[in-house]
Amino acid sequence: MKNNITIIGAGLTGPLLCSILSNYSLNIDMFERSDDIRKSEQFSGRSINLALSKRGIKSLRSAGVYTKELESSLIPMYGRAVHLSTGKIDFQKYGNKNSHYINSVSREVINKSLLNTCQTRSNVKIKFNMKCTGADLINNEIIVNNKTVRINNPVIGADGYRSVIAKNISNIEGTKPEYVSIQHSYKELTIGPRNNEYQLDPNALHIWPRRDMMMIALPNLDRSFTCTLFMRSSGKNSFTDIDTKEKLYNFFEKYFSDSIGLISDLDGDFFNNPTGNLIGLRVPKWNYLDKALVIGDAAHATVPFYGQGMNAAFEDCYIFSKIVDKYSDMDWKQIFYEFYEKRKTNADSLLDLSLDNYRVMRSDVLDQSHAKKQQLAFLLNNDFPEYFIPLYTMVSFTTIPYKTALDRGKVQDKILCELVNNLDKVENYNKSLANKLITKYLTKIDEN
Ligand code: FAD
Repeated sequence: MKNNITIIGAGLTGPLLCSILSNYSLNIDMFERSDDIRKSEQFSGRSINLALSKRGIKSLRSAGVYTKELESSLIPMYGRAVHLSTGKIDFQKYGNKNSHYINSVSREVINKSLLNTCQTRSNVKIKFNMKCTGADLINNEIIVNNKTVRINNPVIGADGYRSVIAKNISNIEGTKPEYVSIQHSYKELTIGPRNNEYQLDPNALHIWPRRDMMMIALPNLDRSFTCTLFMRSSGKNSFTDIDTKEKLYNFFEKYFSDSIGLISDLDGDFFNNPTGNLIGLRVPKWNYLDKALVIGDAAHATVPFYGQGMNAAFEDCYIFSKIVDKYSDMDWKQIFYEFYEKRKTNADSLLDLSLDNYRVMRSDVLDQSHAKKQQLAFLLNNDFPEYFIPLYTMVSFTTIPYKTALDRGKVQDKILCELVNNLDKVENYNKSLANKLITKYLTKIDEN
């Protein structure tokens, strides 16, 4: 007889996990509060497009859902095109290898593709318009559309950063999910195509860094770009401060003047599109006995500045599958516990990395010292490949655990600071000092 499992949430994590678990002897019910996005006119996802990188691709591939169709919908971005206030655009590449690029992907395309895969599995039932409004895991109950449902099998909460399942686990454990707010919010604006062509280079992630705020733009297949403006929620230069067309155009004229001609409906987008919150989340405990687990954003949401939230959620699914493989008897208590133990510190580290990368993106990229350190990091990687891997590379182009990347990144930064000090040209760096520092402070590391 097959065991049952219930997944709450059919966003990005739920359907990938469902596809993976459908390969085992399990019957899976997946509850989603919204309508089936494949049938509804309006897709109400959180961001229109996302950056997909190594961890996400590896996980999709291993689950057999990285189809040719999905792959052909990706747009490679090889670096940051930094739009300076002067109007000049400075290209800063992401890595020192041809394989070092991230991919712009439509949230709608990836979500639909994952749901389509789930739907082909005979042991999966997806139930749309079914909102889990509460859970009482101690008494084996969840509440769906305000009706109590008895549940005698494990429940996995893939229900995003406001997870009902995470709240119930926290209540039982006497802990509290910790929400990290950064006082900045975001809004999406559109740079449409002109004469059916992209208005900017589509193979770059565009950023307009302005120290205390920034705008970014990622390409879409229809030759548009989705821009995301990040700035304070309230106070000077904030979403609440800009409340008239005049203020909006004055603000853009002052800070983002080269984008005014690109965004065809600036005031329409700005005043009609919602302002989104930027939330980081640390859930202290992810598992409860053999009854429940949270995964993806439900366990560890992050701010979007490393483009890793979805990638980490997909990597969760990959790691979860490897643990399930170890337990042919489906010992859920052990599986959930091991998953939590393996992933929790890495998820916390990703939040730290992402918070830090906001400063890098909105400010550091404007500084000569940052550019110098970046170039030197590439040289050190060429010269000491077994020891020195630039931080962005570790996070986006390898599957080195986030905690290791964070820790090594800090050590590497100290080495870079020491080597870059008083250096005229990066090519002239002191190789023997580098060798001494690197072999003293770093151990060998494998990229994969
Ligand atoms: P969600 O996407 O939130 O999905 C949760 C699902 O559960 C939804 O379908 C929801 O309707 C459903 N649900 C919620 N509550 C209930 C309930 N009570 N009952 C039933 N169903 C429920 N990540 C990247 O890797 N790269 C990026 O470039 C990137 N950019 C981003 C930009 C922005 C502005 C934001 C906000 C996030 C970005 N992310 C990015 C992060 C990424 O969006 C998330 O990490 C990802 O969506 C997590 O997927 P999830 O399925 O865990 O959660």
